[in-house]
Order: sequence, then structure tokens, then C-alpha cells
Amino acid sequence: MSELVIKNAYKAFDSLVVVDHLNIHIPEGCLLTLLGPSGCGKSTLLRCIAGLETLDEGQILLGGSDITHLRPQKRHIAMVFQHYALFPNMNVVENIEFGLKIKKLPADVRAAKVQKVLELVELQSCAKQKPASLSGGQKQRVALARGLVMEPKLLLLDEPLSALDARIRKSLRSQIRDIQKELQLTTIFVTHDQEEALAMSDQVVLLNQGRIEQHTSPEELYSRPASEFAAGFIGNYN
Ligand code: ADP
Ligand code: MG
Repeated sequence: MSELVIKNAYKAFDSLVVVDHLNIHIPEGCLLTLLGPSGCGKSTLLRCIAGLETLDEGQILLGGSDITHLRPQKRHIAMVFQHYALFPNMNVVENIEFGLKIKKLPADVRAAKVQKVLELVELQSCAKQKPASLSGGQKQRVALARGLVMEPKLLLLDEPLSALDARIRKSLRSQIRDIQKELQLTTIFVTHDQEEALAMSDQVVLLNQGRIEQHTSPEELYSRPASEFAAGFIGNYN
């Protein structure tokens, strides 16, 4: 089981409250989109879940275990950012394999795992290429593969498509969704793009200044926005 439960999460930077007592429950295998304007606290919440920031208050449970105070490496969480932080001097396979080497897995086990995710993200033909020779979409698929190869219980995607052009963005989002469904991987997808939220998700949480405006299905958010903020935000869709 790898459901995620966020209980009463609170985080402030000095007097700026960024995550304001949030409660979110994400069932196993669900893709939940965190949607909201720039600065509403999406990345900070994700970083707290990943252990890159610490919550001031609250609890995070993954698969029933309290991970609130664990080091990031112990959380079984993979995170992909807007700007793929790939190792420039390593080829695709070496980039993906890196985390497995740190775990000291034997070479044959590493090779089998890398092969599996290379197929999943359809990058077999680029296996020996360095990041500089890849397109933006391919780099993001390497970043995704690097996370998936660790067999995480939770996948966090922080605006992974925002730096890509529109055509690549659409094909990559359906590829991410297909992989997420195939692996039944509990996932939080962050975006400020309403169309992406509608296309991608099982559930959407609309955030406004660190608080939940609405937590619902994408269809419901569009047909029945529950507040002026929600209606205004969705209405700006273009
Ligand atoms: P989003 O990802 O929704 O755009 P963020 O979580 O990045 O929002 O930021 C929320 C707010 O917290 C912003 O006002 C941002 O300036 C502030 N913030 C984020 N990280 C820090 C930090 N390390 N120190 C101070 N303020 C921060
Ligand atoms: Mg952000």
C-alpha cells in the first residue's frame, strides 16, 4: 500500500505562511494534480513531502508509515523538476543507473532495472547519448526514468512539462499518464496550467495561498467551481 496522507501540514518562511494547515488524502495509484497560481505554495508542499524542506507542523504518512522526519533518501519518493538536473558528463544509462550504484546493487541487477525503465520511457535508442545531445522532452524522460528506476512508492512531478514546447508537452503528458497508470504509482503532479490538470488527473486540489480552495474531480472543478477564486482561476483558461 502506498497511499499518501498529509495531516495538518503547516510551513511558514518568517511571517509568510506558505502551507496553511493542509489535509490531503491520496489513495494508492491515484494521480492528484496540485493546481494553483504561481506562489501559492505548490513547490514548497512538494519539497516538504520529499523531505527537502521540513514542515513546522503536521505529519506525512506514506503507505501507513510516518515519514515526516525521515531523510529524503529513506522516503521512497522520486521527484522530477521543471529543469531536468541531469549529470552532463554521464550518458543516459549512466544517469539512470547512478542511484542504483549508490545503493550498491550488483551490475547485472542494475542493468536489468535500467533496461526496464528505458523501455518504459521509450529511450532505448538514446542509451549511450549524453544529455547535451537530447531534446528537452527526451531529457525529461531521462529524469523520469531516473526516478522510476528506484521503484518509488510516490512520484512527485513539479511542473515537469513547463519548459517544453506545446507539442512535446502534450505527448509527454499522455506518456507520463500511461506509465503512471501502468505502474499504479501514487503521484502528485504540480501545474499552474488548467488544461493540463483536466487532461491528466484523477483528482485535483486547487490551492490558494497555501489553502485548499477545492478538492474534487477535474470534471467537477470545471463544471462546478466552488468559489469565486476557483471560477476565476478556471475561467482564465485559454
Ligand atoms: P509555487 O510553487 O506555487 O509557485 P512556492 O512554493 O515556490 O510556490 O512558493 C510559495 C511562496 O513561498 C512564495 O511567496 C515564495 O516566494 C516563498 N518561498 C518559497 N521558498 C522560500 C524560501 N526558501 N524562503 C523564503 N520564501 C520562500
Ligand atoms: Mg513552483
